[in-house]
Amino acid sequence: MNDILPGDVEVWQHVERTARELFGRFGYAEVRTPMVEDTALFVRSVGETTDIVGKEMYTFEDKGGRSLSLRPEGTAPAARAYIEHSISNSEPLTRWFYLGPMFRYERMKTGRYRQFHQIGAEAYGSKEPAQDVEVMDMVVQLLQALGLTDVSLNINSLGDDACRPAYQSRLVEHLRAHSSELCADCQVRLEKNPLRVLDCKNERCQQIASAAPSILESLCEPCRGHFAEVQRKLDAVGIKYVVNPRIMRGLDYYTRTTFEFIASHPALGTASTVGGGGRYDKLVKSLGGPDVPAVGFGLGLDRLCLLLKEGGQQYGPSKDLFIAAADEGSADVAFALASRLRREGLRVEFDTRGGSLKSQMKRADKLGATYALVIGEAERQSGQAQLKPMRGGDPVPVRLDEVAQTLRNAIKPS
Ligand code: ATP
Ligand code: MG
Repeated sequence: MNDILPGDVEVWQHVERTARELFGRFGYAEVRTPMVEDTALFVRSVGETTDIVGKEMYTFEDKGGRSLSLRPEGTAPAARAYIEHSISNSEPLTRWFYLGPMFRYERMKTGRYRQFHQIGAEAYGSKEPAQDVEVMDMVVQLLQALGLTDVSLNINSLGDDACRPAYQSRLVEHLRAHSSELCADCQVRLEKNPLRVLDCKNERCQQIASAAPSILESLCEPCRGHFAEVQRKLDAVGIKYVVNPRIMRGLDYYTRTTFEFIASHPALGTASTVGGGGRYDKLVKSLGGPDVPAVGFGLGLDRLCLLLKEGGQQYGPSKDLFIAAADEGSADVAFALASRLRREGLRVEFDTRGGSLKSQMKRADKLGATYALVIGEAERQSGQAQLKPMRGGDPVPVRLDEVAQTLRNAIKPS
């Protein structure tokens, strides 16, 4: 679990701000659910035999003897809230996004933490391929807005209740032929949830999985049609993608479309998937809600921020102005001026420790203030001062009662 310190937090805020603004443009409203849920919610949705539920959850008993878990993902809590508040009664199509910490007891590596952060979106009520493409488009546009161009969209279809059982039998047949070579976990998965073998991280299991039959050959006509339409619509909006039958996703609730956004940057090591999602038409009903189809995604903020930091760009807003007092007698006036200018909307620094003018100016330099303004006796008498540009250029004369306006004009890009 990480502390995110000033210096890094600006990158996070930039991503969060960009996402909130963009998702708003798509008509998605923010939902905030608790950090803790009944353990049963995740067992019933994510699935008992998945790594997330089987090995990675922070589960504990509270004082009332209930089994609770820190949320390992955001889709199930959002679906729970959607059901609990009967949202489908008041609107046929609901678009939500969320942002916050998730918890998984995993082995720590680059890009893999025990408290990490996801930004995700869910759309309830539309079974149409256009809805799948809309949520993928949101991710594509977010990555673009962040300047992350080296990320590829991989799509797949997992079929539905009509065609997946037949695929599962074909898969089991293939896996049985190699069962003695599978890892201990996959031996169990083979019996309980064979699709999960396909996303086992064990090398030998992956080799066996890569020789398995493709699910795309087993799709029924409606699923095939849905997947074809998703691709046609992706083409129509100009989104590039790769069809990848290995995209299974590590959760049980998906039907039909699944997708992952995979980055090819060495900074992420093996944690190269920045996000993924898909359609989950049966989840809401299976959790006791109405029969409402849905599709969504979750993006790993930690990994996005790692990639952005690699770019080396500065994200925090700079200080507009540093006000220095040339002598002790000017400190009160300078302090009051700083207060007033903040009220007027400027980002102003003032060194409350006082000290020599030289040390104050050094600090102005270190903070990267755009301008500095020195108040001394002469300035107090005349009501006039000089705005000194800290990165070179001529000083700008200014009246002390017009600093905000003058500075705005000076900063404004012409
Ligand atoms: P991976 O295959 O890398 O383990 P996952 O399939 O378990 O990922 P999802 O459940 O799909 O991950 O979560 C969506 C995104 O959340 C991931 O693509 C990743 O960016 C992020 N994520 C998941 N687990 C972690 C973690 N432990 N630390 C940091 N980010 C994570
Ligand atoms: Mg994982």
